[in-house]
Amino acid sequence: MKKHNFSAGPCILPKEVLLKASEAVMDFNGSGLSLIEISHRSKDFVAVMENARSLALELLDLKDKGYTALFLQGGASLEFLMVAYNLLETKAGYLNTGTWSDKAIKEAKLFGEVIEVGSSKDENFKYIPKGYTVPSGLDYLHITSNNTIFGTQFKKFPKTDCPLICDMSSDIFSRTMDFSQFDLIYAGAQKNMGPAGTTLVIVKDDILGKVSRKVPSMLNYQTHIAKDSMFNTPSVFAVYTSMLTLEWLKNLGGITAIEEVNEKKARLLYSEIDLNPVFEGYANIEDRSLMNATFNITDEVLKTTFDNMLKEAGINGLNGHRSVGGYRASMYNALSLESVGVLVDVMSEMERKG
Ligand code: PLP
Repeated sequence: MKKHNFSAGPCILPKEVLLKASEAVMDFNGSGLSLIEISHRSKDFVAVMENARSLALELLDLKDKGYTALFLQGGASLEFLMVAYNLLETKAGYLNTGTWSDKAIKEAKLFGEVIEVGSSKDENFKYIPKGYTVPSGLDYLHITSNNTIFGTQFKKFPKTDCPLICDMSSDIFSRTMDFSQFDLIYAGAQKNMGPAGTTLVIVKDDILGKVSRKVPSMLNYQTHIAKDSMFNTPSVFAVYTSMLTLEWLKNLGGITAIEEVNEKKARLLYSEIDLNPVFEGYANIEDRSLMNATFNITDEVLKTTFDNMLKEAGINGLNGHRSVGGYRASMYNALSLESVGVLVDVMSEMERKG
């Protein structure tokens, strides 16, 4: 039976990428050796790393604009502390829009003063804060562009006179914007790019080297820049697979092309949520995420029937995060419009039955 994977990650990848990645595990570039048993310093793998870094910058339109792309390890969670370690001298601002920003704030507090410039904690992160003022004199302002758990997404980004840092783990490469408004972007690979195990960091070189503390080599962005993202053994499989996904995206027409599909998918699902009395959306309408749609069932008695219907339709991964409950449909780049159609059909069928 065909499966429709709405899981929040990890990770949803195009079938052709999975196929090529598995072939490379058996025989990489016709070498007779596996991708995961060759040297990461071999010519073939160095070319993979370079291609992946270059494609990331190209797709975000950040080539030749003073940025470096790195594929690091430790997940986005390590970036919570690396950002502060490398950039926080005295005080930084954070917009608290959910669990992941909360975690980033906790790490930053180890290094200096943290000002919560805005927060939506009062309503369990249903909305994106607005109307806040960014104080002057910050070392940086940190935001989370898409809140994977709560299903909210920034549509407009704050204007700042300090570096703007963005955790884009769950919506990178999914929508067009001026990426040069950010000074550092990071994203764990495992939503829109590749398997868990590598984290893309795009950093504007001129914001680095300004803190007075000594930064350990492995946690220092400048180390990784100087070593072309090969300071230590990279996660070769995750980087290679990410490179394949970025190639797939480029061949499709880049972010502009995928954004069109992502908007269609989100429109289809949200209009069902809004029209079908069996369901109600969680996040405020104007802040809804194109990637993670959160919703509840209005009558809990119907839950078992709905869950069984989902199973029969081959729909996977629709359970909401434990801090929100209900359902969450994650519609990352590789999820097809057809899969969203299948979900919407099950929801309408539920309305007829309910
Ligand atoms: N930030 C966001 C927005 C996320 O969605 C996640 C994981 O889902 C993380 C950070 C944590 O990522 P990692 O597991 O790579 O540390």
